[in-house]
Amino acid sequence: MTTILVTGGTGLVGKAIEHIINTEPEGSRFGKKPGETWIFASSGDADLRDAAQTQALYDKYKPTHVIHLAALVGGLFKNMKYKLTFLRENILINDNILHASHVNQTQKVISCLSTCVFPDKVEYPLDEDKIHGGPPHESNFGYAHAKRMVDVQNHAYKEEFGCNFTSAIPTNVFGPYDNFDLEDSHVIPGLIHKCYLAKKNGTPFVVAGTGRPLRQFIYSYDLAKLFIWQLREYDDVEPVILSVGEDEEVSIKDVANAIVNAVGFEGHYSFDTSRADGQYRKPASNKKLLSLIGEFEFTPFEKALQETVEWFVANYDTARTGKTKTS
Ligand code: NAP
Ligand code: GDP
Repeated sequence: MTTILVTGGTGLVGKAIEHIINTEPEGSRFGKKPGETWIFASSGDADLRDAAQTQALYDKYKPTHVIHLAALVGGLFKNMKYKLTFLRENILINDNILHASHVNQTQKVISCLSTCVFPDKVEYPLDEDKIHGGPPHESNFGYAHAKRMVDVQNHAYKEEFGCNFTSAIPTNVFGPYDNFDLEDSHVIPGLIHKCYLAKKNGTPFVVAGTGRPLRQFIYSYDLAKLFIWQLREYDDVEPVILSVGEDEEVSIKDVANAIVNAVGFEGHYSFDTSRADGQYRKPASNKKLLSLIGEFEFTPFEKALQETVEWFVANYDTARTGKTKTS
């Protein structure tokens, strides 16, 4: 019997894994396999900053495998405001999960990192060997250092105790069930919500920064399949970047244009250049992923964005829109 505990199971990525596991044909590469039990845990099941609550979660479910997604997460502006909180809470959560996985003899753990972990000054494209080559971008160094430390811990657990702990490095993620808060979220959900309100209320649609920075976006349902692949088919401590190709960078302006089209907003929109741009770009290579997984079809960006906007509109009353929801 296999029990897979997904921490952060109620977030963007956790919900996507739940969706894929429940909708792909049973027994297929990404579908549920016989004998598998999947547990999707929220912070209500255990506050993972607390070691005793973390152990109680392991006592309750006795996971054989863990996909560790739980984290304090936010976009550029939240990261800039709460650097120490991002550093400390994520260190606590990650340390508790890895320690509990070790003492409870969990067979395998995949922890989720982010391309923020990479050095700011680095030769592009990013690849799995470049994590520790210099300080991360200053805008999110709290979050980045906490996440980077997981790779250090994974190696130490392997060397001292032989643990099968590894990590995944996704680029920017978006999709249904995201956090659509107006200020603290990532760019795509934040702008979808802003554009939706601008259309509904006849108010201006304002995009933060210059619109020039570039990002690589992955649809959460594609990422979910890659996590399931990594869980079943990859056993090595070294991380794998889970991403579309490095040639698929999109500018924030292109993102805003695509959102305007998907929402059907007909007014003019503007850029608030007094606001931060953050890192200019951080293109990552998916060469290692593709060499291991073989064929994999990513959902085209515009299609994934359209589906996300449709999901947001259909679920506006229950979507995570934060305290800043205005109407
Ligand atoms: P999310 O939507 O904000 O969800 C966060 C999840 O973590 C929720 O299930 C939340 O539980 C849980 N959580 C937060 N604090 C917790 C705590 N103290 N104890 C237990 N659970 C806690 O995040 P996401 O976007 O799915 O991110 C998942 C992972 O992907 C994270 O590790 C993140 O760093 C990484 N990542 C995300 C992106 C992105 O663009 N979103 C990009 C790269 C990497 P509740 O629902 O109960 O609050
Ligand atoms: P990052 O990759 O960690 O920087 O993630 P974000 O998803 O926060 O994207 C930040 C980029 O989008 C920056 O260039 C911002 O200036 C730009 N941006 C434009 N509007 C928004 C917005 O409403 N929210 C966020 N988070 N970023 C925005």
